[in-house]
Amino acid sequence: MEYLGLIIFFSVVAIIGAVGVWFFHFGRSAIRKRKILPFYAIAAAVVFGTSAEYWTPTKMVLMIAWPVISVITLLYIRNSRFCDNCGRGMMSLSFTPPRYCPACGSQLQHIRAGNH
Ligand SMILES: [Zn+2]
Repeated sequence: MEYLGLIIFFSVVAIIGAVGVWFFHFGRSAIRKRKILPFYAIAAAVVFGTSAEYWTPTKMVLMIAWPVISVITLLYIRNSRFCDNCGRGMMSLSFTPPRYCPACGSQLQHIRAGNH
């Protein structure tokens, strides 16, 4: 049972990761990416949170895990920028979002993910 759970868990993580890389890396529509990113980030956070709940023996760990996951997800959504020129996505977990596109060098508009 433990073994099957692990396989399912890693399959789900692999699928979420593959879809995310494919969509956010190869897609060129900055507007569409800004719309979808919050849903994607929250879905990923819920998967990680519930799996942590499943494998964690103590409640103490969960009291740390959920807030940490929430903060990372919020920062991820808040600091993600997509270049309007080339569609390149930049994910930063720092408190200051990137200002210039590393791919084409154009200045990034400070439009947050979820807004459009
Ligand atoms: Zn660019």
